[in-house]
Amino acid sequence: MIEGRYFYPHATRFVAARASAASGMLRVEALDGSLLNEAPAKSLRLSPALGRLPARLSLGDGSHFESDDRAGIESLRRELKLRAPGGLLHRIERSWRGITLAVLATAALSYGFVAFGVPFIARKLAEATPPSIAVAMSRQTMQILDGRALAPSALKPKDRARLEALFRKVSAHEPRGAGGYTLLMRRGPGVGANAFALPDGSVVVTDALYALAKNDEEIEGVLAHEMSHVNHAHGLQRVYQASMIPAAIALLTGDVSQVSQMATVLPGILVQSAYSRNFEQQADDDAAAILRAMGAKPSRLGDLLLRLEEVHCHKGGCAPSWLGSHPETAARVERLRQETGK
Ligand SMILES: [Zn+2]
Repeated sequence: MIEGRYFYPHATRFVAARASAASGMLRVEALDGSLLNEAPAKSLRLSPALGRLPARLSLGDGSHFESDDRAGIESLRRELKLRAPGGLLHRIERSWRGITLAVLATAALSYGFVAFGVPFIARKLAEATPPSIAVAMSRQTMQILDGRALAPSALKPKDRARLEALFRKVSAHEPRGAGGYTLLMRRGPGVGANAFALPDGSVVVTDALYALAKNDEEIEGVLAHEMSHVNHAHGLQRVYQASMIPAAIALLTGDVSQVSQMATVLPGILVQSAYSRNFEQQADDDAAAILRAMGAKPSRLGDLLLRLEEVHCHKGGCAPSWLGSHPETAARVERLRQETGK
């Protein structure tokens, strides 16, 4: 017999009562021994005892029996072969260790998704992007840049001809072949010495970069590097990565309110550093292979990278645009020098 209170069906009215189990039935009786209610084990439901609240047995008809005698309720539960209340989720919620584990698991999952899931999906999306979309995106990008940051090249005809010849020479060694890439010559005070690739195969080279290069091999190295970005659709991947991260965080945390804040910060940090490091290394490695195939030294690209860093970085640090897209120059140069020794 367990002492407790019996609550009438769907009522807050209760009486002092005792509960006992007999042949698979729960019997609830008043203190004078008169029967208040009876229910088979299968219609009973035991609510978890939370904090200092009493344990509660629902009889299935809207009535319930509750008791502060937890040990008694537990032996009743065993006798009637009832399931432990709450299940796994409840037990996890009750233990701080469980909470900590859940937080760590969520963090690990988030990290895993951002570090591996996002790049993987971005690559799949980039591979599945039709060329027509890559062309449209590239045209739009160039329209924006030509309207703001870039102006037509002012290179002399003989320099243009030299750059075009080098471009043809390198692209002939590339997977898309000589017709698969387009050279766009531009200049721009805000852009400085720079080169970048667009998804449709366009490679933009600025006059300042051309002027900075000391020999053909340095230019060839930069061109091969940019063509590698085209070959692997790195630009498309970065666009997909950047747009996926806020959505990924919302999915994982279920919290949309923080997303708008993170959306402005996180892509900048994650996409620009961790992701682009892999892309740059891949482009450097590909460029090294192309340079070797042409009988040139991969270390030449490293020489130009060092000079580029000098131009973009002063005593006060590097221009953000440069640091963001080209991390760890020293490590890259070292790698290119090792490629030369092979
Ligand atoms: Zn690059």
